[in-house]
Amino acid sequence: MTIDKEITDLAIITWGEKKQLQMVREECLELAMAIGKYLERNDPYNPENLNNLRSEVADVNIMIQQANFIVGEEDVQVFIDQKLSRLKERINRKQF
Ligand SMILES: [Mg+2]
Repeated sequence: MTIDKEITDLAIITWGEKKQLQMVREECLELAMAIGKYLERNDPYNPENLNNLRSEVADVNIMIQQANFIVGEEDVQVFIDQKLSRLKERINRKQF
């Protein structure tokens, strides 16, 4: 998966951090709604809900890259490393 960092950085420069964080929130809400719709109306013969879900996943990926930049990618990475370590422990213990 590739997201053009030059474009996402330009979005922050163009609209500012506050506006882009609001967009992160908006896109996350849209993804949550798309997941709900997909799970409730899962129909293998109707790809519309799956494509809508894919589109919202794409939006959130783009916005998360901007969120990482705004709050500090290296600081986010510290949390990612801790959480993945904890997830690995849970998997190894098979606790859900
Ligand atoms: Mg969207």
